[in-house]
Amino acid sequence: VEATGRAKFDAEGKPYQFSGILQDVTEEYQLQVRKDEFISVASHELKTPITSLSASIQILQKLVKTDPSSDKVPMFVNKASNNLSKLTHLLDDLLNVTKIQQGQLALNINRFDLVELVKDCCEHINPLHDYEFVFLGDEELMIYADYRRIDQVMINLIGNAIKYSPHKKRIEITVLHDDANATVAIRDFGIGINPQKLPHLFDRYYRVDAFGHQFSGLGLGLYISAEIINRHNGKIGVHSEVGSGSNFWFTIPLDDPSIS
Ligand code: ADP
Repeated sequence: VEATGRAKFDAEGKPYQFSGILQDVTEEYQLQVRKDEFISVASHELKTPITSLSASIQILQKLVKTDPSSDKVPMFVNKASNNLSKLTHLLDDLLNVTKIQQGQLALNINRFDLVELVKDCCEHINPLHDYEFVFLGDEELMIYADYRRIDQVMINLIGNAIKYSPHKKRIEITVLHDDANATVAIRDFGIGINPQKLPHLFDRYYRVDAFGHQFSGLGLGLYISAEIINRHNGKIGVHSEVGSGSNFWFTIPLDDPSIS
């Protein structure tokens, strides 16, 4: 609690009266602590791909001089390219947060098949085909929404489902609709989330046990996803149990926003 005001003191110098404002700063304080943590997490997250990228480029520079037709060249080019994508993704997230805070996350609404988007996204995010995706529900569902932004939400949610279920490689994705809304649910069978942590999950910079866990990340994906879904007038949420896995879901209203 933070106090601003004036105290009156007795002859011994002990305060006996206070007039002013007492303000609960715990939330502000927690955000500040998370911001401080974030800077050290972000520096580390950026440093890892940069270090790896510089190493690949150094090796490639050497190979170009000594053995340009070496069969190692494609591998290092691939490595460099993967690390560059990681960096681009991290920077995109940081730029998105700035946009959100400045109220500049503009939507570009188009009409598209949500099921097709979901399947394409799974295909791209799982190039090794080591995760099994099970698709349930509708076979086609045309919606009005921002294709790129919904794709971004799917990449975040499926990316998390993969990241946080290293030993259970099955992910169920359900697309359903009723009269008013489309609903997408992404169910994994991974580590799950402690119920106490659930209320903070969609907050900026929030990561469960930021330093304790072995998974990389900035703690921005769910915050950005929630903002995107809110901008579509949809809802986002999660059911989860430690050890059994998580089920993240979101809804998108079915009506054409340009008509209403
Ligand atoms: P991060 O970059 O840390 O993954 P997110 O905003 O995407 O950030 O997620 C916030 C936190 O929520 C994560 O740090 C993780 O602890 C938890 N989380 C998100 N998705 C899952 C999931 N599918 N299973 C378990 N924990 C999850």
